[in-house]
Amino acid sequence: MAKNNSRRSLASIFLLFALAFSLAGRANIYPSAHAQDVSPSPAPATPAVDKAELHQALLDLTNTSTVMCVAAHPDDEDGTTLIALRRKNGVHTVSLFSTYGEGGQNAVGPQLYEELGVMRARETMKAAQLQGSEPYFLGLKDFGYSKSADEAFKVWGHDEALRRMVLKIRELRPDVIITNHDTVTGHGHHQATGRLIIEAFDAAADPRRFPEQLKQVKPWQAQRLFVRVFGGAAGQKSGGAAEKVVAIDPNEIDLVRGTSFAEQALAALQQHATQGPWPKSMADLLRARRIEAGKLPLIRYHLIREAAGAHPLPENATTPFAGLELPEAFMAKTASPKIDGRPLTEFLDQPDRVLAALIDWRASQTAPEPPAEDPDRFRLFEARVNKALATASGVSLTVVSSHNVLVPGLNTTFSINISNSGLSRVHVDELSLDSWGETTQPKTAEELLPDTETIVTVDRTTPKNATLTVPKEEHLYDNLFLGQPFQAIAKLEIDGAKFSVKTSITRDVAPAIEIKSISPSPYVWTPATVKQPVSFKVTVTNNLDGNFDGNLTIGTSENHVLEAGSKLSLAPMETREVTLKSNVVPLETAAHRRIEGNSGLLFVSVEPQDGRHPITQRSVPVVYSVARVVRGLRVGFVPSFDQTLQRSLAALGVDAKELNVADIQKGDLSAYQTIIIDNRGYEAHPELIAANSRLLEFVNAGGTLLVFYHKSNEWNPDAGRNRPQLAPYAIILGDERVTDETAPIKFLLPRHPLLNVPNRITPANFANWIQERGLYYPKEWDQHFGALFETNDPGEAPLKGGLLVAQYGKGNYIYTSMVWYRELRAGVPGAYPMFANMISYGHQ
Ligand SMILES: [Zn+2]
Repeated sequence: MAKNNSRRSLASIFLLFALAFSLAGRANIYPSAHAQDVSPSPAPATPAVDKAELHQALLDLTNTSTVMCVAAHPDDEDGTTLIALRRKNGVHTVSLFSTYGEGGQNAVGPQLYEELGVMRARETMKAAQLQGSEPYFLGLKDFGYSKSADEAFKVWGHDEALRRMVLKIRELRPDVIITNHDTVTGHGHHQATGRLIIEAFDAAADPRRFPEQLKQVKPWQAQRLFVRVFGGAAGQKSGGAAEKVVAIDPNEIDLVRGTSFAEQALAALQQHATQGPWPKSMADLLRARRIEAGKLPLIRYHLIREAAGAHPLPENATTPFAGLELPEAFMAKTASPKIDGRPLTEFLDQPDRVLAALIDWRASQTAPEPPAEDPDRFRLFEARVNKALATASGVSLTVVSSHNVLVPGLNTTFSINISNSGLSRVHVDELSLDSWGETTQPKTAEELLPDTETIVTVDRTTPKNATLTVPKEEHLYDNLFLGQPFQAIAKLEIDGAKFSVKTSITRDVAPAIEIKSISPSPYVWTPATVKQPVSFKVTVTNNLDGNFDGNLTIGTSENHVLEAGSKLSLAPMETREVTLKSNVVPLETAAHRRIEGNSGLLFVSVEPQDGRHPITQRSVPVVYSVARVVRGLRVGFVPSFDQTLQRSLAALGVDAKELNVADIQKGDLSAYQTIIIDNRGYEAHPELIAANSRLLEFVNAGGTLLVFYHKSNEWNPDAGRNRPQLAPYAIILGDERVTDETAPIKFLLPRHPLLNVPNRITPANFANWIQERGLYYPKEWDQHFGALFETNDPGEAPLKGGLLVAQYGKGNYIYTSMVWYRELRAGVPGAYPMFANMISYGHQ
């Protein structure tokens, strides 16, 4: 639509002007607020209303139920059910996650732990947007795979976890709670979450539980709690006689959008990219689940708890809230409008009639006061009325800021845009911006003619003491990683129908010059590298509108600058990676660490040219490990997802080269004595499977091949995927793990050279491990292999396949399912000597 375009471009020209004005110099003093109208252009024939969006907004007026899905990790949520309930029934859907999933793996990048948590929270928010639901997090620590609920509670604290869950139930007030997790199956976090929700269902309603919360929220009794039934017949797990089940059909087609709920759920699931790969299409998904008829089975939930006096769940219920009733007085107050006795959703093709009906209904309502019996549910209804009026009338509100990153003490201009793309005149009663705990009410145009918009700017100074929201990974548990929120609200009126529109944005708050990352971190030293200069790659960003000239320095304490470091010059808003080298190595400190076997810290600072106080500073842990490799070793490595191998080899001072699949296929492998395939390497580089014979030839000719852990379904021979046995002698992986990172390690072949040359390995090398010992342990292996270690989780049978080694031809093959990569990455000193022995093996 050309008209629309011209209107938009006028607006964007103004916006550009506003931006240019503010970018011109931070020191400018702006008027506190100013408004500008853009002249109208002729109205289009029909308002541009998105049909699906309008349908949802109108459907939402017919339901004030809240259904909460409780899940342990991002991607455990029941997307299909959430989508079906919202799209088909207009239910207010929320999901509650125990953790951010930071203990999981990352299929798309090097980030792990808190950095991964930030990514997974974002993925979850994107998925929730597609599900039409709202995500919430309890922020309990995801410390990796665990086998029991007790293990989870040891870290979470049972009472603390319950307190958080009860608070969220009291805040979000779900009528129905659903979960995928029972109390006995799968991941310990799943079991613990399954147990917590049963307790929280009752505790949230009991004013004697967590009474301190009652200053903020009221007790809340959810009516029903359902647990999903997987596989087999309903009733198997809990074994009750009169069990009630509700079933959702994932194959049902959403008539407004033309796709099935399962298909929409798959699109949402794909947002959890770090946990992929996911099926690319429904056909893929059906194939993966070996469903030939093309229909997914019903999703069924057991009713496992009901509130006292709750309305009974009808037989053959198709929604979990079926049969729940609200008081008549409340229903009367929230009866949604109709046209000729029919719901508005039946009039999507006549948006003008829909809008007229909404306006008449709203204008005739007396002041909508929340009813005493359930004010929060009424507020939810009111929010939905506002949304329906805004959608039907084509009014929208957006906010942008002149700077994406806010710097304490500096000014930012917020531009609030109210756009009227509909056919009605819109009266603006009031406009406000909530920022930094204050509400600003800028002057605005009083009326918006059809097809016009108005932009109002508000200048705000970021408080000097504003809390920084970066580095994000340091703000995972205080929620600041999402940024500082800013909210705009416009109170509007069309033909006597009053409604409001809200929008919010978040912005990062960062130092003027920001250290985005430092690599490597931790910094690992070994005898071979202790005399080399310290070297970091530091990524810095100038968040100022002007040039920055200063210094980047390394110090051994917060105040003591070791060396001037390098000069740093950055253009406005520039981000750059700088190599920071220092020849002045704190040798005494290193020597001290050698004795202590401990870690210290180095400090990287950005300093102004003339000042003494750093503008910003970040610390890097320093670790000393007494790990030696044989002389003159040449190593090639194929990395998977991160730089752990590269950094660990550099820390050992090894002459190492990164190899890609083409190098393995065609390169001269005799240039290397040892080649390393990183964890899940055959999954990260599927073409490696076809080139595997080259690797085996390399071993046969005298090389050492070291292969890190793989998942069983990525490794075991599979004719369907053209995957032969990848090791020279059979290794078949199972799914067993040792999740206790302190599990004792027994040395099965203590005299084996791998445990003695060049470094003598002792139980001390397995101290201070993180997360776990190993995963996807081999369950069978050929007798050519020797097994070096035995370990197990408490109360379980010992696992012996954690490190297998075999001679093949003139060379050696090592497969290890222990999590060396996690320990090397985290700078666990004891892991380096064993890594050094593995790459040195056969080359003494
Ligand atoms: Zn999970």
